[in-house]
Amino acid sequence: MSPVEEFDVVVIGGGPGGSMAATLLSDAGKRVVLFESAKFPRYHIGESLLSGTADLMKRIGVLETLENDGYIKKYGVEWVWGEQREPWKVYFKDALAMPYDYGYQVERSSFDELLLNNAREHGVDAREEHRVADFAIADDGTVTVDYEATAEGRRGRVTARWIVDASGQGGLVTKRLHEQQWDTSLQNMAIWSYWRGADRGEGLDRGNTFLPTFSDGWWWFIPLRDDITSIGAVVDRQAFNENKGIGLEAYYKECLEKTPEIAARLEGAEQVDTVRVQRDWSYIYDKFAGDGYIAVGDAACFIDPLFSTGVHLAMLSGFLAAATVNTVLDKPELDRARVLEFYENAYRKEFARLRAQVYFLYSGHGSSKDSYFWHARSQFDVPGLAPEKAFISLIAGAFTHRSWYRRYLERLDVPEELRGTIEGIFEGKSTGVGVDVETPLTAGSAVIVDDLAIDGAYLREARSLSTPDGAVVPLSPALEALLAGADGHRTGTQLIDLLVESGVSTPDQAQALVHEAVSYGFLTTAREAPDGVR
Ligand SMILES: Cc1cc2nc3c(=O)[nH]c(=O)nc-3n(C[C@H](O)[C@H](O)[C@H](O)COP(=O)(O)OP(=O)(O)OC[C@H]3O[C@@H](n4cnc5c(N)ncnc54)[C@H](O)[C@@H]3O)c2cc1C
Repeated sequence: MSPVEEFDVVVIGGGPGGSMAATLLSDAGKRVVLFESAKFPRYHIGESLLSGTADLMKRIGVLETLENDGYIKKYGVEWVWGEQREPWKVYFKDALAMPYDYGYQVERSSFDELLLNNAREHGVDAREEHRVADFAIADDGTVTVDYEATAEGRRGRVTARWIVDASGQGGLVTKRLHEQQWDTSLQNMAIWSYWRGADRGEGLDRGNTFLPTFSDGWWWFIPLRDDITSIGAVVDRQAFNENKGIGLEAYYKECLEKTPEIAARLEGAEQVDTVRVQRDWSYIYDKFAGDGYIAVGDAACFIDPLFSTGVHLAMLSGFLAAATVNTVLDKPELDRARVLEFYENAYRKEFARLRAQVYFLYSGHGSSKDSYFWHARSQFDVPGLAPEKAFISLIAGAFTHRSWYRRYLERLDVPEELRGTIEGIFEGKSTGVGVDVETPLTAGSAVIVDDLAIDGAYLREARSLSTPDGAVVPLSPALEALLAGADGHRTGTQLIDLLVESGVSTPDQAQALVHEAVSYGFLTTAREAPDGVR
């Protein structure tokens, strides 16, 4: 056995979740070792990304590389879903306050290798063909990880202060420490292959994902580089079991014949790979993090690929996990359990609302695109949000935590159009509830909650305001001054003047804030009986 080496953090797994977390931890000065059992490039399914993922890629400096390497840009998604077989399209540009209006379609072999090499450039000691065989977490918090360097036929051990479990569906740490809760209503099978020369449509639509349903399930059609298209069916487990006797190739062809929209796109195209199969059963562990470890990506939870959210969730949780681990290791003054709970809640919330939307589309409720849009609206805390915008935001990966949107306004490099979009949302909402700035206003029903917020590489204490229906906004000094001034006598206009005179806001900010506070119910007209801020 090689001598024991010492690190701050051990990351198990070099998929998107592991590379994201490792890169950001290393950026924050941690000594990070990452063990990956495979030799890259290695095959992996999960090729369609979201526009929200582009922002995460920008954070670790790989977005430009994707652009230069010619990965296919995905501007939207086309569906044949619902009672009508009329196709309908949605475009990421119509999502709520997202900085990019496109995602990418990626061959995972090269994409994952790019992320892993990028982690190395950021100082991560990333070791391929190193399989983690065992781990232990001592009472004093030290973690020990045993690995096998498979190509060298050697074993080794490292110690560290924390483990990031990014081992994918294998869930090396979570499987041992926690209960894996299978979702019995989402237990499908995926069968797929690759084609050259499929018809991908015109213009910007050439990069779209296409998702038509058929009698046994639904198809994904994902355009990749070099004129290759990934075409796979997600089928009901029972239908798969009943048909697998005829052979995988034959069943795949039969499914194609049952779907005229896909068959039409394959006229003159050539199948260039065998048919592959994988089960895609959804699950979630009962806990994602504890003393000495945190799980990201599929090691924590996995959701049916209907919305192509796996890589996005892996990278988003990698980002959240890095801030969480940095905080636990460097800020002992913050209660550890609370910090871990922040991570757990944030990741679970993203997972839960996507799963709710997947259930809704599978259950056939309403069976029209409008019903899908309206359901998505209930997944956001943003009053007055147009249903279609809510649906697109959800499948674009818009993060529900409002500090995410705020961040863009606070950053100096926010493009003007984006600033306008975000401010426009606040103003747009206010028109929906009819704010009359000449009416006396008073504080509405809201409670102040102690919260944590992401601040650079760390989490910090932050207070938020929460309404009974669950809307949460950060309690800024300006909002605090506004609520204190809303005594039931001052009108909206007078409150705006008060904020400006006291120097906490510019006139534009004060106006937007009053509108926002009214639309969220933090301020109500003095005629309504308020409970007051407690
Ligand atoms: C049929 C199907 C279709 C999908 N389609 C999409 C899609 O279109 N878009 C999308 O975003 N997602 C899709 N997904 C989901 C996506 O594949 C995953 O959610 C995503 O890859 C999760 O990333 P991760 O980093 O958590 O894990 P992974 O990408 O699985 O990476 C885990 C890594 O850990 C390594 N590892 C495992 N055990 C060990 C060990 N003991 N020691 C060292 N290394 C280890 C593995 O070799 C692997 O490289 C799909 C999934 C399925 C099943």
